Amino acid sequence: MSDATKILMVGARGRMGQTILRLAAANPHFEITGTVDQGDNVLDRLDYCDVIIDFSHRSISGPLAQIAAQHNKPLVIGTTGQSTDEKQGIVEASASIPIVMAPNFSVGVNILFYLTRKAAEILGDEFDQEIVEMHHHLKIDAPSGTAKRLAEILVEVKGKAYDEIVLHGRSGEPGKRTCDEIAIHALCGGDVVGDHTVIFAGIGERVELSHKASSRETFASGALRAAKWSIGRAPGLFSMQDVLGLK
Ligand code: NAD
Repeated sequence: MSDATKILMVGARGRMGQTILRLAAANPHFEITGTVDQGDNVLDRLDYCDVIIDFSHRSISGPLAQIAAQHNKPLVIGTTGQSTDEKQGIVEASASIPIVMAPNFSVGVNILFYLTRKAAEILGDEFDQEIVEMHHHLKIDAPSGTAKRLAEILVEVKGKAYDEIVLHGRSGEPGKRTCDEIAIHALCGGDVVGDHTVIFAGIGERVELSHKASSRETFASGALRAAKWSIGRAPGLFSMQDVLGLK
């Protein structure tokens, strides 16, 4: 019997789903035992998998997590854009199964998360912080989950609440910038896979931390790594930082 990690892919016809199916087909350590897309019933295809990977639509992340918990299957969620209510079902399910949820599965972006925290801690409130992201013209949610996670890290370091200080762009006459505010600017166009820059602007100097993804394979191989890592874990809600041992 094969000891390959057996995967049920949800969102299989999408850009990320197709990339994961292609990488898994070329790697003997993985086997795709089922695929699900719009109109399919997950319950019909669950039987043979060790783990479920989801890159589909935010509205199904919560219900999918409940199904995974009922059938004791670890879950890797790459889908972004969930509301606070939609995240609640995921948090509940993580009491009984391991769930790895990451707005970005690339190793490089997880290093960017790490460096952003370090830079914010060292530079402090003397440096204004802004985030710029760019994605392809077919992306349906904005700002990106990665940009929001970067803002969360900056907010955590400041010890403030996200909704109090994070803005999405500026227009009209917003007035003088406050010391704490952080604006995320979402650009959209062409075939950009995913660019993120965190800017720390001081008086007389500026530090910029940037990551640019040039292929979806970086997210796909990270998600496959997370899937393998999740098998046999205790229940809990994990991030890619846990998978990479960066915590
Ligand atoms: P996509 O639109 O190309 O693919 C989404 C797929 O999900 C489509 O085939 C669609 O038919 C399917 N789908 C929609 N609703 C469904 C449902 N109810 N049940 C089953 N399938 C359903 O999008 P994409 O570029 O592949 O991105 C998918 C998601 O992954 C987005 O939320 C995106 O932001 C996110 N993403 C995350 C990462 C990461 O590293 N975490 C990287 C890239 C994209």
